[in-house]
Amino acid sequence: AKSAGGNRYELADPEADARVITRHGLTTALPAALERGEFFIEYQPLVHLGDGGVRGAEALVRWLHPQHGVLGPDRFIPLAEHTGLIVPLGRWVLEQSVRQARTWRERYGTGGAPAPLRINVNLSPCQLTHPGLVRDTVEILERAGVEPDALCLEVTESALIGADDDLLKPLRRLAEMGVDIALDDFGTGYSNLANLRRLPVSILKLDRSFTQSMQRFPADPVDLKIVEGIVALAHSLDLTVTVEGVETGAQAEQLRVLGCDTAQGWYYARPGPPERLHDLALVDATA
Ligand code: C2E
Ligand code: CA
Ligand code: CA
Ligand code: CA
Repeated sequence: AKSAGGNRYELADPEADARVITRHGLTTALPAALERGEFFIEYQPLVHLGDGGVRGAEALVRWLHPQHGVLGPDRFIPLAEHTGLIVPLGRWVLEQSVRQARTWRERYGTGGAPAPLRINVNLSPCQLTHPGLVRDTVEILERAGVEPDALCLEVTESALIGADDDLLKPLRRLAEMGVDIALDDFGTGYSNLANLRRLPVSILKLDRSFTQSMQRFPADPVDLKIVEGIVALAHSLDLTVTVEGVETGAQAEQLRVLGCDTAQGWYYARPGPPERLHDLALVDATA
């Protein structure tokens, strides 16, 4: 990782690293890395577009590799999925994140009530098909003393395309308990919009590519129409719309006008240590 001052860093350049780290080397190092505690989580705030208040954060895992520095999830999640390590790794991420959520909720709570801050955790397709998903999630929430409605599990649209009832069952169970399910990277797959009704999701996360198209000014009118249409459909199905990859104030404003509910991106904050949330005076707006 390149150091960029303070405790900030840039994630290692994948292409440069591909030359020094072999896939095989990383794959074999993964299980020991989990045991040695080389993974850590960064949190990126989720901000309400209407009032600018922080509503929670998404947990994003990183690997502090002893030789190669900080590696981003795109470097090792596919390997962890391939080897099955994603199940214990994902469980670890969930446990850490839920505990962090409790800390935030207590810290910002008022009058004995916890602050309504939520934690979003990514779920890989392998975790979805793992039989322990519901049990593990319930256990983790109970151990941490966190209400299910403080947790949102993010599942990619592609993982649910063509999903049969067996695959959806655990997600339904979790949704019935109050856990939110978000459809991540929405709009990148071959989404059958009608299919949405069948899925136990309550949040659509519009893919970054939509946000990027808002960067051009004036934005492509067709893109505007598409986002407007998705938002209208989502709201008519009682879904909340989150946008990711917001890098400028102009994008945030455009997306707010289009009716999106919450946003996430470098404009607000890069993913960072949990203490970063404390620096955002915005947190007060949720009280
Ligand atoms: P994602 O779930 O779509 O997460 C959003 C990605 O966009 C993150 O990349 C985040 O750092 C990045 N991002 C946030 N704001 C901006 C912005 O304004 N501009 C740009 N260009 N990028 C932004 P990251 O952290 O590298 O994570 C990549 C992917 O790795 C995630 O995509 C997610 O699919 C996966 N991932 C991360 N953590 C976990 C995990 O604990 N479990 C699983 N299964 N997957 C994870
Ligand atoms: Ca995500
Ligand atoms: Ca996403
Ligand atoms: Ca993604």
